[in-house]
Amino acid sequence: MTSLQSFASLLAELRVIDWVAPVVCVICAAALARGITLRSLVDRKLAEMGERELELEKAAMTDAVTGLKNRIAFSRDLETLLDRGGQGEVAVLFLDLDRFKEVNDTLGHKVGDGLLKGVATRLREMLPEGDTLARIGGDEFAAIVRIDPTRPVDDLAIAIVEAVYEPFLIDDHVVHVGASVGIAKGMRPTSSADELLRQADIAMYDAKFSKTDSFRIFDERMSNMIALRSSMRLELERAIRNDELALKYQPIVDSRTGELTSVEALLRWPNSSQGEISPGDLIPLAEESGQILALGGWILDKALLAVRELKNVPIAVNVSPIQFRHHGFATIVSDKLLASGVSPDLLRIEITEGVLISHLDAAKSTIRQLRQMGVVVVLDDFGTGYSSLSYLQNLDFDYLKIDKSFMKDLGRRQLATQIMRSVIDLGHSLELKVVAEGIENDWQARLLQLLNCDYLQGYYIGAPMPLEDLHKFRLNNDVREKLTRASAETPELPSAANG
Ligand SMILES: [Mg+2]
Repeated sequence: MTSLQSFASLLAELRVIDWVAPVVCVICAAALARGITLRSLVDRKLAEMGERELELEKAAMTDAVTGLKNRIAFSRDLETLLDRGGQGEVAVLFLDLDRFKEVNDTLGHKVGDGLLKGVATRLREMLPEGDTLARIGGDEFAAIVRIDPTRPVDDLAIAIVEAVYEPFLIDDHVVHVGASVGIAKGMRPTSSADELLRQADIAMYDAKFSKTDSFRIFDERMSNMIALRSSMRLELERAIRNDELALKYQPIVDSRTGELTSVEALLRWPNSSQGEISPGDLIPLAEESGQILALGGWILDKALLAVRELKNVPIAVNVSPIQFRHHGFATIVSDKLLASGVSPDLLRIEITEGVLISHLDAAKSTIRQLRQMGVVVVLDDFGTGYSSLSYLQNLDFDYLKIDKSFMKDLGRRQLATQIMRSVIDLGHSLELKVVAEGIENDWQARLLQLLNCDYLQGYYIGAPMPLEDLHKFRLNNDVREKLTRASAETPELPSAANG
């Protein structure tokens, strides 16, 4: 066909409207003059459009930060793999970074993005070429892993967790994060893509909440746990509303005299459908469900009532990081103090390092406001987190509370005693009062006296008790006698040189 015939047939095919024809004629005449056929012109145009479409489609399927596939592409790949009719087991691995938000908040989004790229690179290196890897949310990654007997998926999960745990160097910052991994296994062609991803997500949450494992493989009990958590949420809401929770009070005494100097209010939920639930389980549940603010407010109210009943014994209240960071926390405390008529110096707010890590400046300002009011601020569980000396130097605490885990080896291992001595001395050098908790026997109590620890708390001194029992404790306080009696068994302190 000649070029003119092509031109005529194309116009006929396109049924161009009258005014377009002259324009097309001019363009085509120019093209023909340069020896380009109209068909090739059209073909080229179509090819260009095809490439652009492919590029657009690729962009729609790619995560802009890491260059990995995104959630849409991941779901499509998983559906295709499951529908293709092949057989065999397939696993979906769901990974969520721990502490990613802290990195973003403290070091900025540029470092956060650098971290995501770094994680993507490490994950890519660990997975075989054909396995799909995607970033499917903020700090969430997912992979489709074909199960191979020579490569158990548990081993892969452990290797991935370890790889992410290795520090990253991003823009001169050494960044430490962790990972929680959930795995769901399915059979081709019976499993559904959505269901597998949902199960892997549930398993990941289970790993995140577990204190022992950083990866979990999905099983049906986990779905039941999710149902339980949501029913507990409703139950907790009712318990807060109906005043079904309780506080118990654990005495804190002067290490020299045994006199009661304050108490720590500890939350109890005596009659939940799951039996008595410890604060260690209850607080994360309330934090996750957003009930922590209501719960924290309830605890403060109850504790302030108790101060009045106890006739001016100071009460220490544990405040969760989320509650402490809530904007207006200092105002809430101030309003509650005013409403209760309790003097601010009778309230002690115990916070852990978790409060400080991601929002240091805000924490600093809240601590300052509380102290200006006269409220005492305690750094709790010292020694379990980062134990950063800069926190101690830059923030104005009144008390330092040494975590009970230090007590275990005290008196048994010389190093433990040396560490305890150093922490107490460190607290004193920063003009902080030092409290040791978790004291379970007279040996530990006497050793801490010798190490000049200011205050003692633990079952040896007194278990957490209801308010009524605390009145009795004050009346017949036998701790005074326990702590002051001279003992032939006074422990010998290891000398500093003995390490
Ligand atoms: Mg505490």
